[in-house]
Amino acid sequence: MPVRLERTTRRGDLPLERTTRRGDLPLERTTRRGDLPAVVARRPRDSAAEVLRAILDHGPIARSTVARASRVSAASVTGIVASLLNRGLVREVPEAAGPPGNGRPHVPVDIEPGRVAVIGTHIAVPRTTVSLMDLRGRVLDQRQDPHGRRDPAEVLAALAARVAAVGRDAGRTILGLGLATGGWVDATTGTVVDHPLLGWRDVPAGAVLAELTGLPVRVDSNSRAMLRAEMLFGDDAGRARGSAVHLFVGNVVDVAFAAGGSVHQGPRSAAGAVAHLPVEGCAEVCACGRTGCLQAAVSEQTIVRRALAAGLIDRPDFRALIDAALAGRLAAVALFEERARLVGRAAGLLLDLFDPEVLVVVEAGANRMPGCLAALRAEAAAWSSAGADMAVAVRRTSFPDTVLAVAGGAVALDRVYAAPLGQPGDWSR
Ligand SMILES: [Zn+2]
Repeated sequence: MPVRLERTTRRGDLPLERTTRRGDLPLERTTRRGDLPAVVARRPRDSAAEVLRAILDHGPIARSTVARASRVSAASVTGIVASLLNRGLVREVPEAAGPPGNGRPHVPVDIEPGRVAVIGTHIAVPRTTVSLMDLRGRVLDQRQDPHGRRDPAEVLAALAARVAAVGRDAGRTILGLGLATGGWVDATTGTVVDHPLLGWRDVPAGAVLAELTGLPVRVDSNSRAMLRAEMLFGDDAGRARGSAVHLFVGNVVDVAFAAGGSVHQGPRSAAGAVAHLPVEGCAEVCACGRTGCLQAAVSEQTIVRRALAAGLIDRPDFRALIDAALAGRLAAVALFEERARLVGRAAGLLLDLFDPEVLVVVEAGANRMPGCLAALRAEAAAWSSAGADMAVAVRRTSFPDTVLAVAGGAVALDRVYAAPLGQPGDWSR
């Protein structure tokens, strides 16, 4: 190892000093609370969260093994599990055959499947989705309704009424409500800051829904919501908790990034805005006035317009187009493959930018058609400097048939798993 020659520091090496004069000093004043910046630092490690996550990942599991898996002391695990049992988040399950004559039998614990649930809501451009989800992230019920007008007050009032109906029919304690939507969403304040396609600006959706439903509410963007679902319950949750990028492609396009199990929000909660990422090979004019923006190239509205022009569908209905492609209609399949290639180019750029362990894509074609996923992967590999090595990191969503139902529910479940013994008031913090 090369050794750097050391030299004694001499006076001339030091910056020029000037005698401090009285007038240079700021007036001294005791620092008060209001002088401090708002603390948005990561919360300290929550032992109850570690315990519940270990039970989710490994249950049924003995308390002693929970202690090993969660690195929480055995004594703390006992107390935490008692509180989790009390809240109906976990249950004791009978052990088939314990070791005989070993004193107290150990009773394994598992996630409670029946007593509690969360409600997820999703606001898309044409419709809203309301879902009921259990603690394992399973969708127990989902309802979709088109909205006629997009006035925020009307949409949110109708949504709250559907939430109440789903809650009544659930027969379970509802722990809270999650809302996911596109555009720029400030998760800290529960505000839809800007959703150009809906025409919403600074809509305090979280506060409105909390007021109307009486439930604790958490709000987040599509991609951050789905990334949380992948990290909690996804097919590749282990890798996703390491580092992951999530690319959501619907009418809006957005991205989320997580490292070390933490989803990055950014100080303005604005991380992941890739709608206007320039993509080569696209001639669509975007709402922003430029040509070649990713969202304009791949949005559902764009592909529907092309399908209408080609006579593939007779009304502007994205689902009809998907059905045509799934039924094997070649011109419809070709539209989705072209879209998958454009999404693949964006995926290639994202792979180079973040170098994640996994890049999860939600895109209707790749979700359901292996040929589209293959086209997307190949294009991502071609556009990534790491080439074919990176193609393996690209995978479709773990929830291809329930994306919108899972998104809102995952926002709520993420809160439950982050602080399972917290108070409802913590949801808005
Ligand atoms: Zn644009």
